Amino acid sequence: MRIIDGKECAQQVKDQIAAEVADIRAKGQRPPRLEIFLVGDRPDSLAYVRSKDKTCRALGMDCGLHLLPDSTSESDLTAMIDDCNRNDNVDAILIQLPLPDHYNSARVLDLIDYRKDADGLHLMNVGLLHLGEPYVMPCTPKGIMTLLETNDIEVSGEHVVMIGRSQLVGEPTAKLLIHNNATVTLCHSRTKNLSAIARLGDIVITAAGCPNLLQPTDFKEGAVLIDVAMNRVDGKLQGDVYSEATRPELEKRLRACTPVPGGVGPMTIAMLMQNVLDIYKIRHGL
Ligand code: NAD
Repeated sequence: MRIIDGKECAQQVKDQIAAEVADIRAKGQRPPRLEIFLVGDRPDSLAYVRSKDKTCRALGMDCGLHLLPDSTSESDLTAMIDDCNRNDNVDAILIQLPLPDHYNSARVLDLIDYRKDADGLHLMNVGLLHLGEPYVMPCTPKGIMTLLETNDIEVSGEHVVMIGRSQLVGEPTAKLLIHNNATVTLCHSRTKNLSAIARLGDIVITAAGCPNLLQPTDFKEGAVLIDVAMNRVDGKLQGDVYSEATRPELEKRLRACTPVPGGVGPMTIAMLMQNVLDIYKIRHGL
């Protein structure tokens, strides 16, 4: 079984971005700039935004990190986003989710100018992706497709079983696969006989957030497993299927598999950085 190394693939993407940004700077132009908004003090969200800020800077891009108290009103946040929309020196905007309960998240995400929408979650970007003409793609689905492509795993004509139908991962990934000529079965929490359906998959993608969702015997011989989930069990990260315990059996059964951690996770942040650079390039006609 081939281990699909998301860390290495993400590093290659980031090296390429750093080289392109260095080139931009060498020509005396300002580098791409991302503005990140976090409302509230969830420790996991704080860790995520700090990591995004750090990665952005490490690649030579600029980043503005706005850490706002939970009491920030939706209208105050709206005004800040509006400033960024109108500021020519800002290329991309990200609002860290989840927002506190007193916010209407969909409404706030749609305040971002969709051409500066770093996460690709604006209604316009969702619609364009569904039409097969993506403008900014959501990061995790884009990371999954990049991992498949760079590991020469053909999706065209293959039966892909996608487990999870969230707007963040499952649904957009299913759409991207369909547009790349895969035959897709989309499963969710109400799906009956999940194991039997998984066994039909040439490629199975799990994004349910349920440890031990499937057993290694639930895959056909030679299948590919992309395990997106990040479940913390006894203080350790594991996927919906992949764990140190299941790995030996998966190795006997599968053609290729993403580990957890070190699979899809590192790709998500690399794709965010790619989105920031791509938006910059479109805005500057590069
Ligand atoms: P979500 O809770 O929004 O959606 C989960 C989906 O799984 C739902 O559509 C639900 O119907 C389905 N589901 C739940 N239990 C199921 C079951 N028993 N059988 C079949 N389907 C089931 O979650 P999400 O935001 O899509 O994230 C899913 C997982 O992926 C989580 O573990 C999350 O941490 C992880 N994730 C990882 C990355 C990454 O970068 N690696 C990014 C985003 C999410």
